[in-house]
Amino acid sequence: MLKFFGNGSAFADTNTCAYFIQNHDMIIIDFSQSAFPKFRNLDFSDISKIYILVTHTHGDHISGIGTLIHYAYFILKIPVTVVAPCSDVADELKELLNRIEGCIPDGYKVILPYEVNQNWFTAAIPTEHSEQHIKKCFGYALSINSSSVIYTGDTKILSPYLPYLHGNNTYLYTEISAHNSGVHLYINDFFDTLNELCQNGIKVYLMHIDDKAAIEQKIKGTALKIVDTI
Ligand SMILES: [Zn+2]
Ligand SMILES: [Zn+2]
Repeated sequence: MLKFFGNGSAFADTNTCAYFIQNHDMIIIDFSQSAFPKFRNLDFSDISKIYILVTHTHGDHISGIGTLIHYAYFILKIPVTVVAPCSDVADELKELLNRIEGCIPDGYKVILPYEVNQNWFTAAIPTEHSEQHIKKCFGYALSINSSSVIYTGDTKILSPYLPYLHGNNTYLYTEISAHNSGVHLYINDFFDTLNELCQNGIKVYLMHIDDKAAIEQKIKGTALKIVDTI
């Protein structure tokens, strides 16, 4: 369903960000600088527009957006639309991309969820993550090839996503953590819930991995899977 440039957490070699292609649009969820070499090697011959959905502004989620916009403008000649999940994050992204990264205004725009108007977009889902980003952390509900896809972003709670998780054609891409940091979904606390979701027919994929060996050990023999990367 989604393809991943990376599946790691903030301190990993490759940070978690994903993409899919629908019609002639490439839709990317978050974009770390660590994803850029893989992004550059994709085939853009059939792509007319790039969207980047931003979950929140930690560096492992937005550090590559400026570089992507520069590359899309100067090399690919493809316009980029950055979707901010709320107006506060939109203002911060405009500050970053315009004033700090110096992106050419003609090459991109920053919009809000209500402006997306694409059949693959369902909703931005507010969640809780770090104290420093209260009311500024989101996941996304998407519709991809008539499947329902829920992407948690970074979160310490699963409850905002549960109302979206029903039916056999639903994918949950959820962050998970082997260390109990208080800002992520600690696997020991969410293991049973995630397994229950699998038993109810939800396809559950784990991302934003901090300790691959520990998570693999924990999910052995279950239907839970760590996302593959391209
Ligand atoms: Zn993160
Ligand atoms: Zn984060």
